[in-house]
Amino acid sequence: MSESFKAILVSRDENKVQKVEEVELTDSDLMEGDVTVAVEATTVNYKDGLAITGKAPVVRKWPLIPGIDFAGTVTSSSHPDWKEGDKVILNGWGVGETHHGAYAGRARVNGDWLVKQPDGISARNAMAVGTAGYTAMLCVMALERHGIVPARGPVVVTGAAGGVGSVAIAILAKLGYQIVASTGRTSESAYLKSLGASDIIDREELSQPAKALNKERWAGGIDSVGSHTLANVLSMTSYGGAVSACGLAGGMDLPTSVAPFILRGVSLLGIDSVMAPREIREEAWRRISTDLDTGKLAELSTTISFSGIQEAARDIVEGKIRGRVVVEM
Ligand code: NDP
Repeated sequence: MSESFKAILVSRDENKVQKVEEVELTDSDLMEGDVTVAVEATTVNYKDGLAITGKAPVVRKWPLIPGIDFAGTVTSSSHPDWKEGDKVILNGWGVGETHHGAYAGRARVNGDWLVKQPDGISARNAMAVGTAGYTAMLCVMALERHGIVPARGPVVVTGAAGGVGSVAIAILAKLGYQIVASTGRTSESAYLKSLGASDIIDREELSQPAKALNKERWAGGIDSVGSHTLANVLSMTSYGGAVSACGLAGGMDLPTSVAPFILRGVSLLGIDSVMAPREIREEAWRRISTDLDTGKLAELSTTISFSGIQEAARDIVEGKIRGRVVVEM
């Protein structure tokens, strides 16, 4: 019998009422996979908050260990790419949704889902980045592919004080962009400026129903909010600009018109981190290791222990978490 480890388990009763508890499990409780990893660090993303509070149907198999990302060391592998002792990162692929996730001492997954921890990035720092930060990098890469270079003009980042927003600002600043940060927490202006934002706007400016077109204010955008906010961002994007859309913290809808697309040639770039192919993930993590300042990463992240996961999950869905939360196991 293998050693037991602590895990968080989400289950449902016959009336579909969700229960979350801390339990002791062993390797035999884990799901199928060809690589077992000792989880060293994980994190609390917005999606993990939704999973633990049950506010959205993230968990789709019960009982389930939540947690969509982890960093750790391979303890056993029958996958050709991985061997005992390898340092790996996992983001997404349904882990923490339909496959047992990160909130446990060990995880067993499909080796195709893993990427190597880049040299110089510790497990802790990989999770300070986490899925939110890796998604921020995917957003930046999409803008670059669309030709949105710093010389084109400012980039707006919405949900700026959140996880995706904070990491996006730190990356864009290192790459030399001028950044407009939109936040509901203007009390965090000093924090956002220290990450590299040059202008702070109150998110109220972007939260009312959008006009078809508005004054051109930025060449690009990274939006983790959706709904009216994304519609306003699009209506204020300058000719030929582009907006990376990755989130729905403000709503799933998109009440916009085709005007920004057909009259200004604006592009809306959809970003998904969960099923992104391995080459794109590896490129994103390589870029994170070069284009994200570790001093800023330390500034935007706080560390909690395993016992703090459930409280952090409740806080993140209420918009109370600043930057990123790392869970050291
Ligand atoms: P956080 O909770 O850390 O950040 C979200 C931020 O959005 C908040 O901090 C807040 O920023 C702002 N916000 C929250 N509620 C509202 C609201 N009602 N109206 C306007 N702004 C609001 O979450 P993450 O950064 O981890 O994730 C952000 C979004 O991105 C989520 O929807 C998440 O599901 C999505 N996501 C998508 C991925 C993908 O693959 N497409 C991957 C990762 C995340 P402030 O206080 O500054 O206003």
